[in-house]
Amino acid sequence: MARFIFITGGVVSSLGKGLMAASLGALLQARGYRVRIRKFDPYLNVDPGTMSPYQHGEVYVTDDGAETDLDLGHYERFTGVPSRQTDNVTSGRIYQQIITRERRGDYLGATVQVIPHVTDAIKAFALADTDDLDFVLCEIGGTVGDIESLPFIEAIRQLKNELGRGNSISIHVTLVPFIAAAGELKTKPTQHSVRELASLGVQPDVLVCRCERPLPASERAKIALFCNVPTEAVIPALDAKSIYAVPLQYHAEGLDESVLKAFGLEPGEAPDLSRWEDIVDRLVNPEGEVTIGVVGKYVGLPDAYKSLNEALVHGGIANRVKVNIQWIDAELFEAADSDIAARLEPLHAILVPGAFGERGAEGKIASIRFAREHRVPYFGICFGMQMACVEAARNLAGISHASSTEFGPTDEPVVGMITEWMSSEGLQQRAEGGDLGGTMRLGAYEAKLAGNSHVAAIYGEISISERHRHRYEVNTGYRDRLESCGLVFTGMSPDGRLPEIVERPDHPWFVGVQFHPELKSKPFAPHPLFASFIAAALKQSRLV
Ligand code: GLN
Repeated sequence: MARFIFITGGVVSSLGKGLMAASLGALLQARGYRVRIRKFDPYLNVDPGTMSPYQHGEVYVTDDGAETDLDLGHYERFTGVPSRQTDNVTSGRIYQQIITRERRGDYLGATVQVIPHVTDAIKAFALADTDDLDFVLCEIGGTVGDIESLPFIEAIRQLKNELGRGNSISIHVTLVPFIAAAGELKTKPTQHSVRELASLGVQPDVLVCRCERPLPASERAKIALFCNVPTEAVIPALDAKSIYAVPLQYHAEGLDESVLKAFGLEPGEAPDLSRWEDIVDRLVNPEGEVTIGVVGKYVGLPDAYKSLNEALVHGGIANRVKVNIQWIDAELFEAADSDIAARLEPLHAILVPGAFGERGAEGKIASIRFAREHRVPYFGICFGMQMACVEAARNLAGISHASSTEFGPTDEPVVGMITEWMSSEGLQQRAEGGDLGGTMRLGAYEAKLAGNSHVAAIYGEISISERHRHRYEVNTGYRDRLESCGLVFTGMSPDGRLPEIVERPDHPWFVGVQFHPELKSKPFAPHPLFASFIAAALKQSRLV
């Protein structure tokens, strides 16, 4: 039977609970255990798919087509275990399920209540499909004390009891702030947070204390005393120089050992962490650097492009170079007096990422034109591929009104709405005016690559599977005209109907993909497109 690790956060949000869960997962894996990490989000959206990236950061998409919390991206990047629909659940989804059942009459006249109906549903999500695992890590979003998270904490309390001693533990992540005026780290917020959690019936077994300065032994002992945990189970967690150094740092502070001891397991031999040591060595001792311009829309909040940011870093790891990312607001290039050349010339490569809506599209098209004309490596992802097609149509094929139907009715729909496509579950159909939630081509789809293409050489194979999240597609009705001006369709869906990749054979590196390769990149297995893109940027850096 799987053992369960429940992870809560206290004092403030943004303590890096997700990274902690991901790192602990990686450490347990390095010790030979099979792990899966799940996230419970207390908000009422059914999934984060309809939330603005400004509110919630990136929407992470799984192979099985779920739109999930960005923490699932950390889990996958650190453990390599592909996340699934069943690894992220929100209060909204749970209530939706319960209310649907109630309307069907499934509760046979019973009063439907938070306890037991909501808590039972939460427990069922935690327990589902865990037979082949050694450890299931369940992270609870939000902060202890929030009204929304109460049913989740109550479900943990019940589960701990039902699973029996030795089969579950709880980890609480807190903050130990440094008060400059007193020159001291303060443990009181941690004490209060643990007391709050204990008052809900959950006594933590391990405390992870985020702090800006080293936690003195005396303070560690004080936290242990007041919070009822062994001193070695108070784990100091200082900021790391890279997120990929976090597993090493937690191991050095004894996190994995404390967790195993809390389960009554013998820690045994030290885990092999050479994979993480190599990654950190490449990050800390680079042999060069490149600067990539990401021309996008949500540039004010880097979390909106979390996986993209990481995949670029992974491309740097593959080439042993430091990757500097300049986040550029596409709208800057829409002003009449904007000097696009001055802004883009110093860059070694340009990337236009995924996006929704028309805002900034003209600035992106102008950037793509610059990259094409100046032979600067260009990588277009999803919207960035669609706009590369619009750019070529307008500026090379003479289709001056080329546009996307996403921006409104157009006579030249180079990019258009798809209402029908094949998935592994058969024909999928959508109405043009349907709901916004969950109406996209989502999740992993296969693509076939042209054997003699640049992308086939990059992947080293001609059959690939990548994750999608979009409503619109490049219209194959324009394929001949685009290809005759050098933009070649080198990746298509297996039925040949949907363009997946376009590239320019006459350019040093110009690739547009309809999918999101960044979602599958890992520090120990950088995605081939990102590794190749950064290599091209490195070449470019030697020219400028
Ligand atoms: N807005 C575009 C579409 O829906 C692109 C989406 C994306 O870049 N993820 O097709």
